[in-house]
Amino acid sequence: MKRVVVIGAGPMGLAAAVRARKRGFDVTVLEAGDVGAALDRWGPVRCFTPLAMNLPEEMLHAVDVDRNALLTGPEMRRLVLEPLVARLNIDVRTRHRVTAIGRRGLTRGDFAGHPMRAERPFVVQADAPDGERSFEAEIVLDASGGYTLPNASGSGGLPAAGERRESDRFIRDHATLEARADELRGSRVLLIGHGHSAANALLLLGRIGVNVVWAVRTANQRPCVAVPNDPLPERNAVVEQANALAASPPEWLRVERRAMLQSIVHGEAKLSGGRSIAVDYVASFTGFHPDSRHLTEVTVELSPVTEGGARLYRAIANVTDCLTVPSVRPSDLASGEPNFFFVGSRAYGRARTFLLQTGLAQLETILDSLPK
Ligand SMILES: Cc1cc2nc3c(=O)[nH]c(=O)nc-3n(C[C@H](O)[C@H](O)[C@H](O)COP(=O)(O)OP(=O)(O)OC[C@H]3O[C@@H](n4cnc5c(N)ncnc54)[C@H](O)[C@@H]3O)c2cc1C
Repeated sequence: MKRVVVIGAGPMGLAAAVRARKRGFDVTVLEAGDVGAALDRWGPVRCFTPLAMNLPEEMLHAVDVDRNALLTGPEMRRLVLEPLVARLNIDVRTRHRVTAIGRRGLTRGDFAGHPMRAERPFVVQADAPDGERSFEAEIVLDASGGYTLPNASGSGGLPAAGERRESDRFIRDHATLEARADELRGSRVLLIGHGHSAANALLLLGRIGVNVVWAVRTANQRPCVAVPNDPLPERNAVVEQANALAASPPEWLRVERRAMLQSIVHGEAKLSGGRSIAVDYVASFTGFHPDSRHLTEVTVELSPVTEGGARLYRAIANVTDCLTVPSVRPSDLASGEPNFFFVGSRAYGRARTFLLQTGLAQLETILDSLPK
């Protein structure tokens, strides 16, 4: 029986484990934290896709949750993913952070591109509670997520001067905003970003009761870009509410347009155009990128744009609406390293068009292409 190691026990890693096991593979999932760890960082933010769009049918059957529910990330973890692992008896090793992957005895340069590489099993090393562990497998499915490392807050995606030194002021996910609500109430917060996550952060900050300066790169009156005729009402509602606040700001909000953070020194934030404001905290929602540090000894092709799969990026480069499940060929999902695949949001990297329903469709294409 061929062995599969899945990296990450998010929704896609667990779906990959269940679907691969159904096809007769011996599957082990290695998860850096707890099951669904990344979803906890969403805090009170709700999915904009109903549960039925987020998991395969046999997993939906195994839990007692309304298929139309728009769950928060922590609810998805607690009510869906954790029970699924127990009920479907998925072999998940939590607190196993994968640190390196290679072919047994081969460096990245040995037999690159040659079928001979596939004759050697993968060696997957992980930091585990009882020390370093090593696993062997014929197939690796990397579902370690695309929203792993926060992007910096300055112009051009670079750190603003002082950003690293004043890192204690920076909050980069909704769960931390929620957890520190008491401390934030009444304080001065600089919010950076104008994507969906920033829109959610603005609404949350409004509920907490803080004074917000919202710095956005764009000159638009309505800074968040809505998907035209968005078929996902929850997503559209968040964007609409944030844009309405920006167009006609209440007392607690000021919007600075064409504004990028240049520096922060002792809480004095300088924005482009010479603007200067005193802040207690910076809520930085400029996006995330994947972590590739475990990939140095495998011959994977990473997209220079998204840091996800290079071939997939080329195949989906023109897809702007994430509700369209793009049709991709098995070769678009190949990583360059035989029998190593990026799965789920890890495959998309920084591309913002990922949805679980797309990841699930691509997972089936990958599983169809695996050696039996
Ligand atoms: C606020 C927010 C709302 C979203 N709402 C939706 C939505 O409504 N619908 C939708 O389809 N998508 C949504 N997304 C996109 C979304 O993140 C994903 O669909 C989903 O989390 C992707 O699942 P995944 O399993 O690919 O990755 P993740 O959920 O990120 O899971 C990756 C897992 O890998 C683990 N991991 C990372 N590195 C390692 C390592 N080195 N070793 C071992 N384990 C590791 C992590 O701890 C984590 O548990 C949303 C994203 C955000 C941020």
